[in-house]
Amino acid sequence: MNILNSLSGKEEEFTPLHKNKVTIYVCGITPYDTTHLGHASTYISFDSLIRYLKFKGFEVLYTQNVTDVNDRDHDILDRAKKLHVSWKKLAEYWTEKFLADMHALNWIHPSHYVKASRHIHHMIDLIQELLDKGFAYRRNGSVYLDTAKISGYGKLSKLSKVEMMKVSLDFEEDLQCPEKKNPLDITLWRASSPDQLPHIPHFASPFGPGRPGWHIECSAMSMEYLGEQIDIHGGGTDLKFPHHEAEIAQSEGASGKAPFAKYWLHSGTVFYRGAKMSKSKGNLVMVSDLLKKYSPNAIRWLLLSNHWSKPWEYKEKDLIKAQKNVDTIESALVSPCTVRYRASQGVPLEASAINQFAAILDNNLDTPKALEFLLDLAKQKSPSLKNLYSSLGFKL
Ligand SMILES: [Zn+2]
Repeated sequence: MNILNSLSGKEEEFTPLHKNKVTIYVCGITPYDTTHLGHASTYISFDSLIRYLKFKGFEVLYTQNVTDVNDRDHDILDRAKKLHVSWKKLAEYWTEKFLADMHALNWIHPSHYVKASRHIHHMIDLIQELLDKGFAYRRNGSVYLDTAKISGYGKLSKLSKVEMMKVSLDFEEDLQCPEKKNPLDITLWRASSPDQLPHIPHFASPFGPGRPGWHIECSAMSMEYLGEQIDIHGGGTDLKFPHHEAEIAQSEGASGKAPFAKYWLHSGTVFYRGAKMSKSKGNLVMVSDLLKKYSPNAIRWLLLSNHWSKPWEYKEKDLIKAQKNVDTIESALVSPCTVRYRASQGVPLEASAINQFAAILDNNLDTPKALEFLLDLAKQKSPSLKNLYSSLGFKL
């Protein structure tokens, strides 16, 4: 199987670190709002990859996190303040909503679905390791990653320092914090001052009370559940920098082992009405709203009809078409099927159908082409249709 690896920028043959076992970590949600189609697109893309790896006979160990606490103010904390609820209650509420939406789409629940707030001690240990090895420094109760000490910082995103600064303006609230040696240094631990303590999450640590940085959370939880080196690390394209770049620097710096992840996979951004689907643009399409009008299989079909690695634009007419395609497949499934033979060889065509389907997905997980192939099988009333349709996560 070939897969597009963001680290090399090329399609590479997939060979896991251990023969038949694949470890995969996918960055999860920050739970303070409803699941939109952009989230669903990322998580159903990785769901189809995991299903296909299992279809090929691999044992898959899959971890996904929930960023229910981090160093930032402008997501959960601002929302909790506005609604007069605790950050913990808000995070629990939206995590449950996310899981309900994703399970409605027949999403595979990860082997480990882990909350950052329950793994603070792992993050503290990792930060201490980075301090001990000289990759981090302390300032007034906070700890920062010294990016100047990390050789190859930027190897994933391939951005220049000027470009990194530009992107960081949108992501890092503390870019110009005077405590930092360099604005691009990453917050590993953010100190809490005593007057803030009742209002914001804080945890005891050898550095003083505070909370972990967003980036160190994923390094710590990935290493805790899947080991110091993993096969696949996934997430949306917008996480490539600084989030994933920082994860590489932190994990490889602490463990001394490279690569932290052998394959970095980034799912394509979803657009709506010409702009990236996002809260700030006000152009969100909610999964729960779509589920009122369309079947879960139709939504999954729409998502898989777009290639996982490419950006795409949501248009309702495409979802209407997806519903029609799903109806066509499901009507074919209730009609009787016949096993057909190649006249010359006496080989059942069904074995060939499975091989053709696998060859399509072996080519960088080409789900749009695989769906077209399923429609052909439906026309032929192929007995393989049922297994191949459900192998991509469609509910029967
Ligand atoms: Zn992450």
